[in-house]
Amino acid sequence: PAKTMDELVSLCKRRGFIFQGSEIYGGMQGAYDYGPLGTELKNNLKNAWWRAMVYERDDVEGLDAAIIQNKHVYKYSGHEDTFTDPMVDCHECKSRMRADHMKDIKVCDNCGSDNVTEPRDFNLMFKTNVGPMVNEDSYTYLRPETAQGIFTNFKNVVDSTSRALPFGIAQIGKSFRNEITPRNFIFRVREFEQMELEFFCKPGEDEKWHEFWVAARKQWWLDQGLSEENIQFEYVTGDDLAHYSKSTVDILYKFPHGFEELEGVANRTDYDLGSHTKAQEEFDLSAKVKKNEHSTAKLAVRDLEANKWEVPFCIEPSAGLDRGMLAVMTEAYTEEELENGSTRTVLKFKPHLAPIKVAILPLKKNKPEIVALAKELKNKLQKLGLGRILYENTGNVGKGYRRHDEVGTPLCVTVDFDSIEKDDAPVTVRDRDTMEQIVIPAAELPAYIINYFVS
Ligand code: ATP
Repeated sequence: PAKTMDELVSLCKRRGFIFQGSEIYGGMQGAYDYGPLGTELKNNLKNAWWRAMVYERDDVEGLDAAIIQNKHVYKYSGHEDTFTDPMVDCHECKSRMRADHMKDIKVCDNCGSDNVTEPRDFNLMFKTNVGPMVNEDSYTYLRPETAQGIFTNFKNVVDSTSRALPFGIAQIGKSFRNEITPRNFIFRVREFEQMELEFFCKPGEDEKWHEFWVAARKQWWLDQGLSEENIQFEYVTGDDLAHYSKSTVDILYKFPHGFEELEGVANRTDYDLGSHTKAQEEFDLSAKVKKNEHSTAKLAVRDLEANKWEVPFCIEPSAGLDRGMLAVMTEAYTEEELENGSTRTVLKFKPHLAPIKVAILPLKKNKPEIVALAKELKNKLQKLGLGRILYENTGNVGKGYRRHDEVGTPLCVTVDFDSIEKDDAPVTVRDRDTMEQIVIPAAELPAYIINYFVS
């Protein structure tokens, strides 16, 4: 794995994974742009999540809610009142910082001075104005989590799919938080993507489902290539527990800057649906919720056995896509000493996450027959639907291998003179991790590739 953030940052920029946002204007703190390969990696990680959370289950539906929502959503969700971080100002160097790590010793992160203010609450939501009139009522917020769109659509999803408990709603999308101190590359940023599942169940079954999802989510991260020794659980208790949560387990990963939260799995009880429901007094809510004077829907389901309407409990595994990418890249980063004394950098991504699946490299760039066969193979492999297959005609295969090791391409295929001179046209397939090369007939390449990626 990567030992320092710097080696990752530099590889990401050099090879086109991640760029500083607004770089040509001096940058924008806490915002990053995903380049050609970062976009592929991100899409692959999203797709792997969607596959595991929606397609491979029969009790989860997908959703894609709007980023800007009615401001009442954030009034009743509790974000307007409580979505804050404690902030401290330093009198000496004038910097501002997040103070949640300053429980006992209060010193400035930047200059070390203890001449700092008492912590005060800073709301992390970005406020924005909606419509052409700017007045007291025309504001709303950019969503600070995707979850609220799931709760406000609860009734729509139940009515349109006839779901009964237990079932879940999954969503992937952008969230925005005006972090006081964004840092550690894409670990803490102001614009990021979340992959969230809200899994609804009967009260009383919540603890069982919470345990289930903690284990399932850890397994999913292992399936993305993270290793067991780099994952830890943190049981969040007492004061650190969010206002809506009965219990939370954070899944931590060993990032280059230490073990930090990658995903949180919270038991949110009936807090969210209870908060957004009308006629709250008709239900036996366990969570303390604000009285709702605006909602037009009852967010409840019929419990046939008890013959009453009930607000479900909710278990929420909430993962950061950007943090996930950082974890996967940290884990995949490998520097290997070769027999000839040189070192190579390899990103050992799991094949399903690799930004480029296969690179096809003709050995001679000006030989029409070789070029034609290489292009034909590219088109054939592209049609398999595995992701990006790259045809790359630079004529320098050695350099091509090095570049593709560095961006994590699992297989390189070279097409050379032998390939066109014999009837059965052999091609060479080189494995990223073992660097072994095998020769197979070009006609067998698609089957070989499918077998490699789909297993
Ligand atoms: P932290 O304590 O690190 O601020 P959090 O507990 O506020 O995180 P949650 O509200 O539980 O985070 O959000 C769920 C997930 O969303 C986190 O586990 C993380 O992966 C991701 N996430 C939250 N804030 C950010 C951010 N500023 N930048 C990138 N990812 C984030």
